[in-house]
Amino acid sequence: MLKEVRCPGCAEIYKPDDTVILDEVNTMHHPECYDRLFEAKDLDTFEGIVEKYEFFHDLLPEH
Ligand SMILES: [Zn+2]
Repeated sequence: MLKEVRCPGCAEIYKPDDTVILDEVNTMHHPECYDRLFEAKDLDTFEGIVEKYEFFHDLLPEH
């Protein structure tokens, strides 16, 4: 299981297959919760974003 991260908009915990936007200050948002305060730089599933960016790797399960 991935560690829990909450959407800053709706406070829901992201599920691995939730679609999320990653903004330029590396905050994830649900597309429907995205406030556009910062530019979006990626759109993927929560799991996809966590795996793609090294600074999120501490959210991955321990091996
Ligand atoms: Zn949300």
